[in-house]
Amino acid sequence: MDSPPAVDLAGILPAIREFMQRDVVARAEQAFLHQPFRVVRPQLETLRHQVQAWGLWAPHVPVAWGGLGLPLRDFAHVSEVLGRSPIGHYLFNCQAPDVGNMELLLTHGTPDQQERYLGPLVRGEIRSCFSMTEPANPGSNPVWLDTTATRDGADYVINGHKWFTSAADGAAFAIVMAITNPEARPHARASQVIVPTDTPGFIRMRNIPVMGEPGEDYASHAEIRYENCRVPQTHLLGAEGAGFALAQERLGPGRIHHCMRWIGICERAFDLMCSRAVQRELAPGMPLGSRQTVQNWIAESRAEINAARFLVLDAAAKIDQAGATAAREEISLIKFYVAGVLGAVLDRAIQVHGALGLTDDIPLAYWYRHERGARIYDGPDEVHKSVVARQILRNYGLDVPRE
Ligand SMILES: Cc1cc2nc3c(=O)[nH]c(=O)nc-3n(C[C@H](O)[C@H](O)[C@H](O)COP(=O)(O)OP(=O)(O)OC[C@H]3O[C@@H](n4cnc5c(N)ncnc54)[C@H](O)[C@@H]3O)c2cc1C
Repeated sequence: MDSPPAVDLAGILPAIREFMQRDVVARAEQAFLHQPFRVVRPQLETLRHQVQAWGLWAPHVPVAWGGLGLPLRDFAHVSEVLGRSPIGHYLFNCQAPDVGNMELLLTHGTPDQQERYLGPLVRGEIRSCFSMTEPANPGSNPVWLDTTATRDGADYVINGHKWFTSAADGAAFAIVMAITNPEARPHARASQVIVPTDTPGFIRMRNIPVMGEPGEDYASHAEIRYENCRVPQTHLLGAEGAGFALAQERLGPGRIHHCMRWIGICERAFDLMCSRAVQRELAPGMPLGSRQTVQNWIAESRAEINAARFLVLDAAAKIDQAGATAAREEISLIKFYVAGVLGAVLDRAIQVHGALGLTDDIPLAYWYRHERGARIYDGPDEVHKSVVARQILRNYGLDVPRE
């Protein structure tokens, strides 16, 4: 962070909590759960302007760029509160994938790139997407890409096929991972290039239906073809060949963002589960919460959520102090651990609600559909477990090479 925070965390958290409960959970969320995103967007825009007017906008962005300048460990707490509703982060302009792209542009953007892309992104005038994964190659091996960006005169010409480019529908630009240096060692072959989505040759083929939802606008994942898509070489982000290093850098804080959002989801699911356990009676005078199975689920969930939060805050503090590379083990550990807790807590909360848990009258089913991906995106569980175990075994004298 280039400047001290504009606000004190303890001063803003109660206001954010109140807003989330009064205006989001009790009102806008229902509209979001029952209507297409484009229909709800005007209502969401009104709330976004309200957040801006209160001076709580873009909490992760440095003060000099119009944000609150919160360090990662403070933003983590805000992220948990926003995670209590599926639209919380969007309303404060700290939603994925824009949050990661803002961080990339802040750290590696040229002054011109920052003026053209970062400024409007921070002000909420445009959205963006991150286009790395390809249907033909394993996303869990990010150095294996077919998409190329070839120098031609003063331009790069991009050709390739991507998918699961989240929020591409309606985005103003994509940050694309493409091979620029095929002869280099595997981790130095790719670069990140900014591609405005109105560039000829940027072809959004479809939004990919996920778990029965077609997806649209911000709430979507797109399949994209790049066909002789030409952008000036000034659109290169960072150094040529540094794409993989930049992606790693983006993912460190990104995993804190995801994990704290997941903990917010867990807390909301936990609230819903406990309320239902008290209110629902199996017979007159016999609430669900009197059953030991339900009590076990409540106790297990409480322990797991608390443990998850401690682990994530510990990782955030380490990133703030020593950087993402030094915290690699902690980052991998929280990614698979918290994703597992999220799945378990959501499942128990749905079970306690019976049929109601499967409806969109409450947000549990929405999260169950959309957050199953938590164990896959930003690296599948198995990859993160392997990172942690290899690091540990190294301390015992066994150096297992990367598969
Ligand atoms: C909701 C969602 C949003 C996404 N958003 C984006 C986005 O905005 N931009 C983008 O570029 N990508 C995005 N992705 C793609 C995501 O990054 C990839 O899905 C992920 O990296 C895994 O790649 P893959 O799907 O090709 O699975 P694969 O690499 O084919 O892996 C399949 C499975 O193999 C197993 N596996 C993999 N490696 C190992 C290993 N080393 N050891 C043991 N088992 C292993 C795992 O169980 C894994 O789930 C998104 C994905 C989802 C689900």
